Amino acid sequence: MSDAPAPNIAPSTGGAKITEAPILWRHEWNSHLLSIRIAKPSDYDFLPGQFARIGLKDEAVEQGVTPETTWRAYSIVSSPDQAFLEFFLVVLPTGKFSARVARRAVGETIMLEKPAQGFLTLDRFKDGDDLWLMGTGTGLAPYISMLRERSTWQRFRNIVLALSVREARDLAYVEEIETLAASHAKGEARLRFIKSLTRETADGTLHGRLTTLTESGALERAADLPFDAQRSRFMLCGNPEMVEAMRALLKGRGFAMNRRLTPGHIIVENYW
Ligand SMILES: Cc1cc2nc3c(=O)[nH]c(=O)nc-3n(C[C@H](O)[C@H](O)[C@H](O)COP(=O)(O)OP(=O)(O)OC[C@H]3O[C@@H](n4cnc5c(N)ncnc54)[C@H](O)[C@@H]3O)c2cc1C
Repeated sequence: MSDAPAPNIAPSTGGAKITEAPILWRHEWNSHLLSIRIAKPSDYDFLPGQFARIGLKDEAVEQGVTPETTWRAYSIVSSPDQAFLEFFLVVLPTGKFSARVARRAVGETIMLEKPAQGFLTLDRFKDGDDLWLMGTGTGLAPYISMLRERSTWQRFRNIVLALSVREARDLAYVEEIETLAASHAKGEARLRFIKSLTRETADGTLHGRLTTLTESGALERAADLPFDAQRSRFMLCGNPEMVEAMRALLKGRGFAMNRRLTPGHIIVENYW
């Protein structure tokens, strides 16, 4: 990520639910993966793992015809102490929102709704030593926010980030994650970063879906860490098929969903 961010402009929302925020920076990982940063209003608070609703006025509105805005949920990649809000987006050629965001340049604005939302947050786990962060594709986004936050490293003994993407070119944020993994301090969590490709093979990666790798035991072997009811806590994020299949697999291994009134082992976020 070499592109230097533009200077931050961070007005308060003045209490408004919806504000317009300028794009400060953008980075294209490949033709269909994009990261952007927008100015964070000074009164916009969130926890790592939460998502923001961002919107674009429909093109007809821009010509003054219908008062519509297309809104979509996006996990926040930045950590709360960063002066911008960062998002990691898949650009779908026919996507009503993402294809249009991808055409926005630095300096142009998008809409931001307040407040941040979502329950994929670490405060929901009251105990546990080993944090398994499992995601597909852009389901990596909330985990980057967590890893940018020092307290995550102090809260757990081990963190396993298991990411599944189709091809090696879809592996984003790798350098940052590897730098973080190498820079943990004494007494802080050890991070294992497990990358898996479903449509090709490459050095340094596993091959196959996270569910297949879990069933075969390959994931635990790669992490050198067994699942354990006392120690393991799981977050699942991204493709709903993965989330559902993994949830069922983990349930079969004796793990339960974490609910507001009944603490468990698993918290999930479905992207569609
Ligand atoms: C809580 C939450 C957090 C989300 N966070 C992110 C995020 O951090 N990054 C992100 O790219 N998307 C995220 N999404 C999905 C996002 O809101 C949009 O649905 C997505 O960007 C597509 O919008 P679109 O208008 O371009 O496509 P649409 O025209 O609305 O097409 C939707 C279809 O695109 C596919 N799709 C949707 N999201 C994805 C995805 N992430 N990867 C692959 N295929 C997808 C599905 O088949 C879905 O039915 C999140 C969704 C939720 C509910």
